[in-house]
Amino acid sequence: MPLSPEQSAEIEALRSQSAQTLRATVPGMEAHLYKAFPVLDHGFVRVIDYMGDDAAICQAARVSYGKGTKSVQNDEGLIRYLMRHWHSTPFEMCELKLHVKLPVFVARQWIRHRTANVNEYSARYSILDREFYIPAPEHLAAQSEVNNQGRGQALEGEEAARVLDYLKADSMRAYDHYEEMISTEGQQGLARELARMNLPANIYTQWYWKVDLHNLLHFLRLRADSHAQYEIRVYAEEMCKIVADWVPFAFKAFEDYRMGGATLSATALDCVRRMLAGESVTKENSGMSAGEWREFQAVLSE
Ligand SMILES: Cc1cc2nc3c(=O)[nH]c(=O)nc-3n(C[C@H](O)[C@H](O)[C@H](O)COP(=O)(O)OP(=O)(O)OC[C@H]3O[C@@H](n4cnc5c(N)ncnc54)[C@H](O)[C@@H]3O)c2cc1C
Repeated sequence: MPLSPEQSAEIEALRSQSAQTLRATVPGMEAHLYKAFPVLDHGFVRVIDYMGDDAAICQAARVSYGKGTKSVQNDEGLIRYLMRHWHSTPFEMCELKLHVKLPVFVARQWIRHRTANVNEYSARYSILDREFYIPAPEHLAAQSEVNNQGRGQALEGEEAARVLDYLKADSMRAYDHYEEMISTEGQQGLARELARMNLPANIYTQWYWKVDLHNLLHFLRLRADSHAQYEIRVYAEEMCKIVADWVPFAFKAFEDYRMGGATLSATALDCVRRMLAGESVTKENSGMSAGEWREFQAVLSE
């Protein structure tokens, strides 16, 4: 379970209070506030705060006051225009603050996104919980033979069982030693900031992560993509659902232009034009490298 009874009670208490505001609120996000969306075996994503909505994006783009007489349809059209033409600053007017619980090896990938503000649980100050990510059997996969940065078929039989045993036993043994080293019963007790170095990268950490919508969409474009590692992708996918409820027009435009769309080079665009003119375009006469041609074929066939 990702949440302790105390954490559940805290969320209930937070959700039982409300405050009046003159600021824009979004019903979809009010429904999500503070709740934990489970991810992996012990992780979660929670919305702690948000600022702005679809209208805020449009208002910034128009640098005007209020919505005036513009219809919702116009707002959606404007947002699609902004997304299509890579206008970024109107999307930066919206902010999202999340509380995320995630394995340390996922956090290492996540923290590469430098445009967020982060405050992480201190393992110098506090004692880490005995919580380790152990993949479900279907995610315990072999090294991919075609992609050095990916995985292939799930492990099977005795090998799968042995690997699972190693992951569980090594995690527990490392934690037993961690506890033993920091204990002050009958000994000085090693400092927490040192004892933690013995813990494996599948232990869970937590942080508050605040980011503007432009950079959040950039994060989701990279991490909800099929090339991203499964363990970070599942967080990004959960966040996509939250963003869809927060700024539905912006998210729809993002899905259309970024997630579902493709960027073509001038050479690729020329190939498309030649194909439309009835010419037989092949890898050899395309002017593309083997990799470019393969990706071009994938774009056309999807
Ligand atoms: C599938 C995948 C595989 C990856 N593999 C590797 C790997 O093997 N090794 C590795 O080291 N990393 C790897 N990464 C991480 C990747 O290279 C980026 O560091 C990470 O995705 C963060 O992207 P970003 O810098 O665009 O994001 P952010 O840090 O959020 O930045 C957003 C944008 O802001 C601008 N920006 C931010 N900071 C600066 C700056 N200091 N200077 C100039 N512009 C800035 C850039 O335009 C940037 O695109 C991988 C990422 C993915 C998605």
